[in-house]
Order: sequence, then C-alpha cells, then structure tokens
Amino acid sequence: MSNAAVLPQITDEVLASLAQAEGVCIRPLLNKVTDTATGETHLVPIRCGSTREAVCPPCAQRNRRLRMQQCREGWHLDTEPESEADAQANSANDDDRDLGNDDGDLGEVARRVRSTRRRQDAPDLPRLPVESRTIGKVFEAPDGRRFRPSMFATFTLPSYGRVRPDGTPVDPDRYDYRRAALDAMHFPKLVDRLWQNLRRATGYRVQYFAAVEPQRRLAPHLHAAIRGAIPRQVFRQVVAATYHQVWWPRFDRPVFTEDRMPVWSTEVEGYVDLATGEPLPTWGEGLDRLDAELETDPGLPPTHVVRFGTQLDLQG
Ligand SMILES: [Zn+2]
Repeated sequence: MSNAAVLPQITDEVLASLAQAEGVCIRPLLNKVTDTATGETHLVPIRCGSTREAVCPPCAQRNRRLRMQQCREGWHLDTEPESEADAQANSANDDDRDLGNDDGDLGEVARRVRSTRRRQDAPDLPRLPVESRTIGKVFEAPDGRRFRPSMFATFTLPSYGRVRPDGTPVDPDRYDYRRAALDAMHFPKLVDRLWQNLRRATGYRVQYFAAVEPQRRLAPHLHAAIRGAIPRQVFRQVVAATYHQVWWPRFDRPVFTEDRMPVWSTEVEGYVDLATGEPLPTWGEGLDRLDAELETDPGLPPTHVVRFGTQLDLQG
C-alpha cells in the first residue's frame, strides 16, 4: 500500500487511541526548540499533564500514580522534608494570598487591580499565625508509643430541595436549580477558602489528598484525607463559617433574548447591541460598572455567596 492510501485514514481519533494504547499523552504540546550552536530545529512534545481522565487518560493515570506514591511516602513522615528554599518560600505564606480575585475566571489575561469594594469579608473564626509545618498533633500512649492521627472528611453543599433516590427533585417547581448551578460553578473557590480558613484556625499548613465527586443530585462534594487530627469542634466551626463571595457583573436578568440578539459588526470587530449600536462590554468593563455601582451603593450584596451545607461527615 502506498503512503497516499494510508494517510487519509490517520485521523486525530486514530492517533489519540494509538497514544492511549501506548500510554503516552494524547494531546501533547509541541515546542519548537532551536539549538543556537548548530541552528538545528526540532520539535519537543510536552505532556499536557492533565489530572482528568476525561481530558487525557494517560496523563491522568500518570498523575494518579504520582499522587499515590506521594501519599505512600509522605503521609506518615514525622519530620518536615522541606529544603531551605522551600522554607523561605513558605515564610512568604502563600496562604495569605488573595483568593478572592474572580477577575481571571473568564480568561482575562490582563491583571486588574482588585477593587477593594468587591470585598471578601473575613469569616468569624479564631485566627492563629500559620506555622511552617505540615505535621499534625502527636499523641502519646501510656506505653510511650506515639500517634499522629489523620482524618477523613466529606464536604457537601446545601440542600436545594428534596430529591428522590435517583437524585431528581421531588418537586421540580420548587427545587432551587439556580442556586445549585451557581454553587457548583463556584465550588472550587469555596474549597480554596476552606483550606485557607482551616490552616488559619489550626495554625499549621494542613495537608490533604482530595477528590471532587458528583453526588446523585449532581452537586459536587469533596472527599478529603487530611494529615493531622483537628478537633471536631474547630472543624465544624470552620466549615460553618466558610463562604465565598462572588463579585461578578450582574446576571440576574437576561439582557439578550432570542428575538433580540447582538450582531457581529465588522466595523468595531465585535458584537454590538442592535438597539443602541453599542459594542457589548468586555468582562473588565462589566467589573468596572460593578465597581461604579458599588461606589454609589457600598451596601450592594455580592452576586452570589456560596457556602457548605450542614451535612459534614468526619471520620478518624
Ligand atoms: Zn496528556
């Protein structure tokens, strides 16, 4: 068979399944590297490194094996394995970085100076200085044996209405779909806040291995194995007090509907509102408008607030 006959059959799907069978990344990034001495150029594939099976099974499996190894080797360590460089980086305390910046969520590259008006109120929690240690409390038994217990926790979002055993709402008319959707969208931010608050309330750099799973009602929940024993009362207090305020341009009413859609304008090279002739605002302009609204009305509530539900499962 000639090459010409074979080539048309090599589709992206064929390549992807071949890559998967060989256990290599199915969507590598190709980097062109030029040797400055010889002037020779060659392509270097870089793994996509995804942790999601749906995105790239070989990379996800590779990452899974790495996490398992990290867990096996690191979970029971009784000394901090950090190098001096790590310790220095830690003293800058990245837990104090601002987790409240939503501005980049929609892919805006330019860094914005975050408006102080779009605030993240501090939760009502005890706050300890976070020490640069990851090892939890050590308990000593009467016979002198030492224990460093771990915990297993499941964090769940609130109820949006009763559901049947298959996860569908008992009363679809009264089920809070809107809140369920918004909570699911902003769940990762809530989880970031949780670890930040937990570290501040316990005073050490709490470490965990966690997985996000959809419940039957399709709300995400988080299972986490946590290094160190945290008093249940502190844990419950942190979970109850943790929330994330979403400051997005208002989206509580549809601006464009089927009979009135924006149209593409070659003149402004963007979509315009037919009624006004104005180009649609960018995400940044939307946030600027929100800031202006907050300027006139500082009491304006955030666009959405996400918190955990009352259901919290703690073991260990
Ligand atoms: Zn990959």
